[in-house]
Amino acid sequence: VAGAGSPRHHDAGRPQEDALSDDVTREATRRRTFAVISHPDAGKSTLTEALALHAHAIAQAGAVHGKGSRRGVVSDWNEMEQARGISITSAALQFRVQDVVINLLDTPGHADFSEDTYRVLSAVDCAVMLLDAAKGLEPQTLKLFEACRARATPVITVINKWDRPGQEPLALLDEISDRLGIQPTPLNWPVGIAGDFRGVTDVETGGMTEFTRTPGGATIAARESLTAAEAAERHGVDWERATEEFELLAASGQTHDQAEFLAARTTPVLFAAAVQNFGVAELLEAVIELAPPPSAWTDTKQQPRPVEAPFSGFIFKVQTGMDPAHRDRMAFMRVCSGRFERGAVLTQARTGRPFQTKYAQSVFGRERETIDEAYPGDVVGLTNAQALQVGDTLYDSRAVTFPGLPRFAPEHFAVFRPRDTGRAKQFRRGIELLDQEGVVQVLVSDRRGVQAPVLAAVGPMQFEVAAHRLEHEFGAPASQDRLAYGVASRVTPEAAPVVDRERGAEVLERTDGVVVALFADTWRMHAIAGRLPSGSLPPIFAVD
Ligand code: GDP
Repeated sequence: VAGAGSPRHHDAGRPQEDALSDDVTREATRRRTFAVISHPDAGKSTLTEALALHAHAIAQAGAVHGKGSRRGVVSDWNEMEQARGISITSAALQFRVQDVVINLLDTPGHADFSEDTYRVLSAVDCAVMLLDAAKGLEPQTLKLFEACRARATPVITVINKWDRPGQEPLALLDEISDRLGIQPTPLNWPVGIAGDFRGVTDVETGGMTEFTRTPGGATIAARESLTAAEAAERHGVDWERATEEFELLAASGQTHDQAEFLAARTTPVLFAAAVQNFGVAELLEAVIELAPPPSAWTDTKQQPRPVEAPFSGFIFKVQTGMDPAHRDRMAFMRVCSGRFERGAVLTQARTGRPFQTKYAQSVFGRERETIDEAYPGDVVGLTNAQALQVGDTLYDSRAVTFPGLPRFAPEHFAVFRPRDTGRAKQFRRGIELLDQEGVVQVLVSDRRGVQAPVLAAVGPMQFEVAAHRLEHEFGAPASQDRLAYGVASRVTPEAAPVVDRERGAEVLERTDGVVVALFADTWRMHAIAGRLPSGSLPPIFAVD
């Protein structure tokens, strides 16, 4: 830290600055910012609620046996926030465990799986990959894992639903290493097969943590520490089997190594039954002890922006209220460096224009609360953010620009046209805004014309959102025709005209200038690629 705390600075402003940077370093160090990646139904909502419940219970000693009744999972954030003293935003859930501030960023759920989900991953320091013990790796888990891999984000794996019949734990680990190419390093091992979850081995004591069900799973599961002898007595063959398997893994070198984990070459593995709160405390401990705190963010010049540098943040998500009367646009910003103070006038790197942060908020479901300050790793919602786009950088006193967010390879394509030609202008404006928000990617070509753009999405739900908003927000109802393409790549200028003449393929330009080729399927793409000079069809999934 250049000059931090150094007594050699004599100018009046300096000591204060040093004190601030010390303060920021301290705050950053005690933060953990992560997201859960999973396939629908793996138990993300259940786990989120269980984490929050544990955090609260741990923060308030004695509350472990509270009577809080469990209702619909994550059904009423507002009430949860009041009852448990945790703040939940539609973008991030923040809670404290002892001295650690945890920011759990929400990855939008099943139905609206979209590019948004990926973007959230660019704002975290770590991811928790949640698997269903019976199903193992599923399609969306794989996609989201790839997004983590692209950024070398460390991943902690949780194998959930161990209370139900599932696969062999060793088979699950093999699947992870074979299909993801990452070495799983279990932090503990389940005692009892899937469907008969007794507890987990405790590496520190050489014994076991035994879980006991609480009725309805409403409160935190009782955990009892057993010595090896007690575990053997109570759990017999199950205990023996667990220790044998775990030793086998240790012998083959599958043990946690912090440097390897941080380099995203290994993934620590835990076993859990979120619905019964089994294994959730262990996950919280792993997040606190292993997940990295916020660190320097790399700018477009490949220079690191240390956390204690003057304020900077980047916009990873923009949301427009579905309420057409208000048209409010909220931008979600991750703080990268320095202290965010509400009211500060920041600079928007892309345009050089000032941005007022008078309306910084956190969003609790439908309720909003003003945020006065935030530190690296935190998420701030900025309202009245008409000028902000996904990928924008904001800074305070020392200029910086962070790289824009990568756009992901779309797999669904539809031509949109205004139903009412008299609303063509509103239609174009709407498409432009949806593009800026990243609701869909917009592709155009001379052949198709601007009144018939091709919208491209990673999930078909994005089309429904686009259609709804065009109609209700912009008064420009649109028709949509799905196209028979299923895969996209970039294409070099030389190859573009060749590809465009092929059957089952088409070339268009994305609004950011990237030339994109669409193909009926990967088979078609490979067949065409085989006739072109190598490297003619670079993948889209890369920072453009
Ligand atoms: P999400 O779609 O990933 O958010 O999944 P949910 O949290 O909504 O869970 C999907 C279903 O799985 C719900 O019926 C949950 O009650 C159930 N579930 C979640 N965790 C567990 C678990 O550990 N064990 C069992 N048996 N069911 C679970």
